[in-house]
Amino acid sequence: MTQRPRFPARIDFSAGRPAPARPAEAGRSAPVPQRSQPQGVGMDSGAVRARMVAKLAAQGVRDAQVLSAMGNVERHRFVDTALANQAYEDTSLPIGLGQTISKPNVVARMIELLRNGAQGRIGRVLEIGTGCGYQAAVLSQVATEVYSIERLRGLHDKARENLRPLRLANVHLLFGDGMAGFAKGAPYAGIIAAAGGDALPQCWIDQLAPGGRLVAPMHQAAGTQALVVLDKTPQGIRQSVLEAVHFVPLKSGVV
Ligand code: SAH
Repeated sequence: MTQRPRFPARIDFSAGRPAPARPAEAGRSAPVPQRSQPQGVGMDSGAVRARMVAKLAAQGVRDAQVLSAMGNVERHRFVDTALANQAYEDTSLPIGLGQTISKPNVVARMIELLRNGAQGRIGRVLEIGTGCGYQAAVLSQVATEVYSIERLRGLHDKARENLRPLRLANVHLLFGDGMAGFAKGAPYAGIIAAAGGDALPQCWIDQLAPGGRLVAPMHQAAGTQALVVLDKTPQGIRQSVLEAVHFVPLKSGVV
């Protein structure tokens, strides 16, 4: 007697689940918050995420908490159904209104920098640019509280919808201009920006706790953009410019 092998695990984004609990439902299933088991596309995606995590580790991401968070958060739930089969590739993807979700590699790298080798969770974090809410979900696993602010109402609403089924009690979504930071949640152990400006707003630095760290893309001379890491140390502000990146622009005002 032969048994069919249960592997290789494949990701099936096409049509819901094999056991027809609700057969009429197809494609991206509606959130079922009461269930702890992921349904539909989520059920087969663990192996694909494990491969993504192995690749991130091979690319140099060392922080075990970051790798574990990247393995836990179902990235395909944050992008359009038509793009779900690309969700675990190392690529940025459109999320609507001209904005993009960063490559997994960039998300992991920036959060690793933000954590700066911390053992457990870091404290309160402010994210500028919620977008689809993916990075906020990853941050929720490695920080005690996450405040995430978005200036586009459409994306703020989308993130709320994407995150609702995950019931992340430590994520606080805010609609507003992140150029002003979010003073009510300050001081922050970490501030992370998903959009790049010409300079780091002074209020971000002011809202950083002593010992806190800010990670943000920033325009450099000659139209390039690079990751900047700023530390608020007892000796003062220390800033370093790291690798080149390509983020959407940091804009002021809300729409
Ligand atoms: N972290 C997001 C990435 C979104 S892209 C994710 O995981 O999907 C960056 C986002 O920054 C865009 O949605 C853009 O609208 C937003 N943004 C740009 N300037 C902003 C500002 N001043 N305040 C808040 N959000 C801003």
